[in-house]
Amino acid sequence: MEIAISRIHYPVFSMGPGKRVGIWFQGCSIKCVGCISVDTWAENKHSVDINQVINLLNEWLPNSDGLTISGGEPFDQVEQLKTILSSARKHKQIDTLVYSGYEYEKLKSNLKNFDGLIDALISGPFDISQTQSLNLRGSDNQELIPLTRKGEDLVSAINGSGFNASSSPSIDLMYEGNTAWMAGVPNQVDINSLIEILKINNVDGVSTMDKRINKDKEYE
Ligand code: SF4
Repeated sequence: MEIAISRIHYPVFSMGPGKRVGIWFQGCSIKCVGCISVDTWAENKHSVDINQVINLLNEWLPNSDGLTISGGEPFDQVEQLKTILSSARKHKQIDTLVYSGYEYEKLKSNLKNFDGLIDALISGPFDISQTQSLNLRGSDNQELIPLTRKGEDLVSAINGSGFNASSSPSIDLMYEGNTAWMAGVPNQVDINSLIEILKINNVDGVSTMDKRINKDKEYE
């Protein structure tokens, strides 16, 4: 089976409590205005044999606290998502956190097929008109929902006052060759400020944020 992956990384500290594996699925049919990850929207890109991903999970998960799956839209590749999570579940100590831009109500029937595989879900589209005050959520309409007993602990940890302390930063900075990229759920204003600071220092900064002002408009 092939799976389209934007990125897979370990260790990641900004996508949930502790030291985690982060997987960003490639392809998103939802296309929220202002999405910070436009680079993950295109479908039929970055396809790999799913066994390559599972091999990395088997290497990394024994030393991890959890797995976070984001995107892109993970439920746009529902069979692949299930295969990845089933494989991860063999590592008993980890918890699993999955993002989706679909509302929980829409996902409900699909979630029956994921019984016990997803400990907590962050669901709902990014809404640029909303405030952003909740840990790990890009906008406050997004719901953080426990789906297992372990998920209740995970949700408590994410909502706890200690989260986003130095042990759980809001951004991870990663390096690939001469490129640095960021993972996490940053404050949108901070991203623009960072790009401005980089520009002042003669460094090119690229934001993958959607620049449309509404869903029906093409890029300005
Ligand atoms: S926020 Fe998530 S669901 Fe919305 S367009 Fe971006 S990747 Fe897709």
